[in-house]
Amino acid sequence: MSQQNQSDPSQIAVPDLTEEAARAELSRLADQLGKANAAYHTEDAPVLSDADYDALKRRNAEIEDRFPDLKRDDSPSEQVGAAPSDGFGKVQHRVRMLSLANVFEDEDVTDFDSSVRNFLGRKEPVAYTAEPKIDGLSLSLRYENGVLMQAATRGDGSEGENVTANAMTIADVPHTLTSAPEVLEVRGEVYMSHADFAALNERHAAQGGKTFANPRNAAAGSLRQLDPEITRARPLKFFAYAWGEVSEPLADTQIGAIERLAALGFATNPLTHLCETKEQMLAHYHSIEEQRATLGYDIDGVVYKVNDLALQQRLGFRSTTPRWATAHKFPAELAWTRLEAIDIQVGRTGALSPVARLQPVTVGGVVVSNATLHNEDYIAGVDSNGEPIRGGKDIRVGDWVQVYRAGDVIPKVADVDLSHRKDDAQPYEFPHVCPECGSEAIREEGDSVRRCTGGLVCPAQAVEKLKHFVSRSAFDIEGLGSKQIEMFYVDEVLPIKEPADIFTLEERDAKQLAKLKNRDGFGEKSANKIFEAIDQRRKIEFGRLLFALGIRHLGEVAGNDLARHFMTWDALVQTVEAAIPAAERQNKADEAVAAERAAAAEEGRRAKVTDVRKLIEAENPIEDSAVAAWDEMVNINGVGAVLAQSLITTFAQPQERAVIDRLMEHLTVIAPEQQATESPVVGKTVVFTGSLEKMTRAEAKARAEALGAKVSGSVSKKTDLVVAGPGAGSKAEKAAELGIETIDEDAWLELIAGL
Ligand code: AMP
Ligand code: ZN
Repeated sequence: MSQQNQSDPSQIAVPDLTEEAARAELSRLADQLGKANAAYHTEDAPVLSDADYDALKRRNAEIEDRFPDLKRDDSPSEQVGAAPSDGFGKVQHRVRMLSLANVFEDEDVTDFDSSVRNFLGRKEPVAYTAEPKIDGLSLSLRYENGVLMQAATRGDGSEGENVTANAMTIADVPHTLTSAPEVLEVRGEVYMSHADFAALNERHAAQGGKTFANPRNAAAGSLRQLDPEITRARPLKFFAYAWGEVSEPLADTQIGAIERLAALGFATNPLTHLCETKEQMLAHYHSIEEQRATLGYDIDGVVYKVNDLALQQRLGFRSTTPRWATAHKFPAELAWTRLEAIDIQVGRTGALSPVARLQPVTVGGVVVSNATLHNEDYIAGVDSNGEPIRGGKDIRVGDWVQVYRAGDVIPKVADVDLSHRKDDAQPYEFPHVCPECGSEAIREEGDSVRRCTGGLVCPAQAVEKLKHFVSRSAFDIEGLGSKQIEMFYVDEVLPIKEPADIFTLEERDAKQLAKLKNRDGFGEKSANKIFEAIDQRRKIEFGRLLFALGIRHLGEVAGNDLARHFMTWDALVQTVEAAIPAAERQNKADEAVAAERAAAAEEGRRAKVTDVRKLIEAENPIEDSAVAAWDEMVNINGVGAVLAQSLITTFAQPQERAVIDRLMEHLTVIAPEQQATESPVVGKTVVFTGSLEKMTRAEAKARAEALGAKVSGSVSKKTDLVVAGPGAGSKAEKAAELGIETIDEDAWLELIAGL
């Protein structure tokens, strides 16, 4: 060994290092490993072999072991190298991560303010904060005793992905906090600046790699990397603007809480202002809009939040959005292009949806080649009431059309330029038969959508239903996505034609000679993986199950609302079945009312809606229990008559019912968690009647529901408690008749005090 090598610390064995040499070595290793990471992940040109890389990492760890005090803040050993192989772990959010309601027009801001004050029953003005809505993805950072313990994405709001190792690589995310509450969940937005985004894409393009459509996709793609080293190499930033669980309040006001977060060391947005009047809110909105192009990062609107946190608390939440905040979005982005063709897609409810195939065009930074044309009327240039839209201009293949894109929503064709229309352009003829099964496609009275009548025989509907069934918010079966569903649907050996078939797949496979594992693209491992993933879903959350059934109007939120109301599958089925006669009668009444309306319009008189309804009801007597079941359904928070009708019709239809029953043979339903188990009103059905003096009806209802009660509009045997204010009439009488406990508003407030 030469003289020079002996004085070079990199050549000295760890046990022989002096403290000084060790310090130099740790610095060199941090640098070298950092560069190697960057080269590996971003330049796609590794400068070290895997073995050399590992050796350096091991040496670094050994030195740190010997000299723990010398461990650097940017120590490579803190950087989680091995990625979890099977995606991210799941994190249950202790406080749900919500989305925001949207408004677009200045006038809507007035409505938002009125809805806040109406809910609170308040005449005095309410102050709001106004701040940019950052176009990135939200992240929740959990600190315990000042140490970052966990970082999670929003996911579906209740359950996100564990991205702790990745979040730790973001410079704006502190690893430790001083003088923070014992438990503090800080929430905010991960985003990428325009400059960093452009540089990243340039680098990727130079290597022939994949480029991102916009900074938000780049940020999301970078945060959700299985290897945190890739995340580290991506220039992500973070703004804090909210919080989840906290062991002690951060402040009394929103603006105070933001200041506190800034004092704790978080980046907060400098354009966060307190506005005392609506004029100030709008002025700040327009000022942010003017600065938008020069901010250096994407924003898509302004968020207003009630400043007083006590009021926020009272306002509470709708199913997925807070009542105390709204996003005022910027106007959408527009572009013009050629409409090359119109395709018809058949959805799971049989709806024929026209899709515009466009000559690709960039709209607000995203390349768009498909857009929705909504429905037949929209193409023809009329709205659902037959009134002209776009000045009555229809849309034809070959036309020069305007494409509109706002935020995440599907782009749509907004307008057409007739001066570019070719002389031989033909009006579009919307098909009257299903392009997939040839069944007649009809439009029901008052429905703007033309639907295939093929029902269960229509392969497009069946396939779309199955795709929906396995989708992320439904059964979410890993390895069984849209592609596989399409394949299995037409498979002759192992067909999946309805949801129950998914759960017999393994059993059927076992009896086959040509097994799944021997097929192209499968193999033993992936076949077993699918079977395992299916097995895991034999137990399913009630709300997901309901959503998965693909019933019209039954979305994710309604699925959860229904689940929380009924708690068990049997309870739901019982009520739905009991309500069938009422739903059928309701249908007849609706038809008769529509006919009466039409006749009245023709004859130029007022329609006798109530009379017609009464007549139908008198002609079709049904049991009280049916009426009660129907009332129960339509009074469920978030349900209403349209969904109730759709759900009941599905269950009343023998073939559809049989499909559901066959599926249920394979499933165990997990009841939704009771939210407030401490509360004395959990699971109780409460009716408010008469006038309330301390709060509005809306607030009373929301509060009761937040405590786990069901609020109903009518008194029946199922009612547990009636809260009667002054002027309570027939409902209080009925309660007395049925012997149901009745209390006044004060007693109610006492009952729920401190919850
Ligand atoms: P949306 O997903 O469109 O319903 O909007 C809700 C999302 O806006 C939240 O989940 C956040 O990720 C994001 N967001 C961006 N900036 C803000 C902000 N200043 N305040 C609240 N949410 C914000
Ligand atoms: Zn069809």
